[in-house]
Amino acid sequence: MTPFEFTSGPSRVVFGPGILDRLPDEVTRAGGTRVLVLSGSGTAEAAGRAAALLGPLLGGHFAGAAMHTPVGVTSTALELVRSLDVDCLVSVGGGSATGLGKALAVRTGLPQLTVPTTYAGSEVTPVLGETDQNGKTTRSAPEILPRAVLYDVELTLGLPVALSVTSGVNAMAHAVEALYSPDANPATDTMAVRALTLMSRALPRIVADPGDVEARSDALTAAWLAGICLGTVRMGLHHKLCHFLGGKYGMPHAATHTVLLPQVLAFNPAATPDVLGRIAGALGVRDAAAGLHDLIAGWGGPTSLRELGLAEEAADDDLLRAAYRGTRPP
Ligand code: NAD
Repeated sequence: MTPFEFTSGPSRVVFGPGILDRLPDEVTRAGGTRVLVLSGSGTAEAAGRAAALLGPLLGGHFAGAAMHTPVGVTSTALELVRSLDVDCLVSVGGGSATGLGKALAVRTGLPQLTVPTTYAGSEVTPVLGETDQNGKTTRSAPEILPRAVLYDVELTLGLPVALSVTSGVNAMAHAVEALYSPDANPATDTMAVRALTLMSRALPRIVADPGDVEARSDALTAAWLAGICLGTVRMGLHHKLCHFLGGKYGMPHAATHTVLLPQVLAFNPAATPDVLGRIAGALGVRDAAAGLHDLIAGWGGPTSLRELGLAEEAADDDLLRAAYRGTRPP
């Protein structure tokens, strides 16, 4: 038996269709009396619903969240936090909105709640990645972890199919890297395999019918489980590469994960033979790397960095060249 350590966060999770209605109670439970709602422009409608539900608890709404949490956006929102004198933050959206909530919470000490609308998993991690003119830096601290997460399946029904696929594979990447993490343990192993199985079965149903509530529930459950993995064990090569490409070239987060994951799985099979077998078993394919590549292609997801707009010169080693071209892994 390999010794291990496992620390899970104190986040409270409420999950279910229509659970957004519980937002005022959850804000009060967290001690909030005047809330700033945070979103990107793409989720402003869902955030508007949250704002309406808050009624007298609403202090304001900032809809400027952006991918990779630029520090300039955080500064603008911080001014609003101060001028509106709010005492609680609620982010509604994907990882970009969650990231802004985390960036503000760590600067102000205010309690933050999160209503995720993608499968990014950031809502259950104590990790914050931020970008400035020098690239992307990441830090981890207990106070970055949101106080409560409201997973409302209904808010994910409108997530476009293409984003559902890439965000779903982003969640799968958290599970995959947890399985070969030096910190892997029985809890994360179990959650990771379950997440891979649930997500790989949910995505084809979502592609066929984006409004399939059961499939959306499975995908959101998988995102949560994979997010716990991301938040509790160290990630590896795949996340480092995505982080680098996102920070240096502004590559879209989830789509970059989608292209790279099969290539990273094929990179060093000798280092992870038993893990590749478990991943293949969870996905229901014969070979983990090629099988995942084929699943992604079948769901209509991106398979090359070229189609995501990366310049060819940026792909300057064997792994990145294969990802640039979208070569099917052996
Ligand atoms: P995102 O939040 O930028 O969302 C992608 C797009 O989808 C946006 O245009 C958004 O408006 C739209 N969208 C989101 N939900 C929608 C819905 N339900 N219906 C319609 N449109 C919707 O992207 P993301 O992939 O969720 O998150 C990426 C960001 O999160 C990156 O900055 C990444 O670094 C960060 N992240 C951080 C962690 C962490 O643990 N710190 C983990 C994962 C991702």
